[in-house]
Amino acid sequence: MILPPQGDGTGSTLEGRRVSAWFGDRKVLDRVSLTMPSGQVTALIGPSGCGKSTFLRILNRMHELVPTASLAGEVLLDGEDIYAPGRRLTEARRNIGMVFQKPNPFPAMSIYDNVLAGLKLTGLRKSGGEKDHLVEECLTKAGLWKEVRDRLRQPGGALSGGQQQRLCIARSLAIRPRVLLMDEPCSALDPTSTRRIEETIGELAHEVTIVIVTHNMQQAARVSHQCAFFLAEQGTPGAIVEHGPTPAMFGSPTDPRTADYVAGRF
Ligand code: ADP
Ligand code: MG
Repeated sequence: MILPPQGDGTGSTLEGRRVSAWFGDRKVLDRVSLTMPSGQVTALIGPSGCGKSTFLRILNRMHELVPTASLAGEVLLDGEDIYAPGRRLTEARRNIGMVFQKPNPFPAMSIYDNVLAGLKLTGLRKSGGEKDHLVEECLTKAGLWKEVRDRLRQPGGALSGGQQQRLCIARSLAIRPRVLLMDEPCSALDPTSTRRIEETIGELAHEVTIVIVTHNMQQAARVSHQCAFFLAEQGTPGAIVEHGPTPAMFGSPTDPRTADYVAGRF
């Protein structure tokens, strides 16, 4: 079993309340409410195009970077609305790390500098020794330290795909986020690398709240404490059909559409 016992009290609670989203006139999410509790891994599952990535990006205020995008509802991080007027983007982002489907380290930048690349966001200045310590800590947490400790000055682009993704996880950890958002982090990886990332997720779940989008039902079953099933039926905007503890979602879903989806029937 990869997961730690649920809810050990670390990380932060993230909550979406009646979140709706549009691109231009087109509504793509309809009143999505979901609490992602401290110390847990929440998996967002559902077919392509149902709004999982959009919801994840809204949790990090990335949605508002798309010029045609608009939004209704609230996102609370430990009870505080990250979209509250006057709240700066950097302030919200400082607490929330993000990892994408395609590993995206800065390819020409050294492994060492890649880990530190997000720090500017926090405005924190660190001495050389503190940086060394942070790089080691983040690479260790991402499960990459032993493989790269002797070649920290090599470019990030020289690593394998799975290693690059773990480097991206290390980079996201350098800001010491309270929440880590992952959008299909293993979709571009081979099974062995996928397994390594899943182990890393299991270890990180002790200290950071994790939200992961995945198409892989076995992965959702392995790494999450709770699941939310998104669906966009016949041109309607995406919405949550059902959510709950992962064993219940897989073992005894209440909605027949959830049962079909988790069984791979559509
Ligand atoms: P998922 O991650 O579940 O596959 P997305 O959140 O990416 O779904 O997309 C939800 C819907 O929003 C889709 O219909 C998609 O085409 C649309 N969409 C996503 N991003 C944009 C964008 N930048 N501009 C316009 N439409 C978008
Ligand atoms: Mg997506």
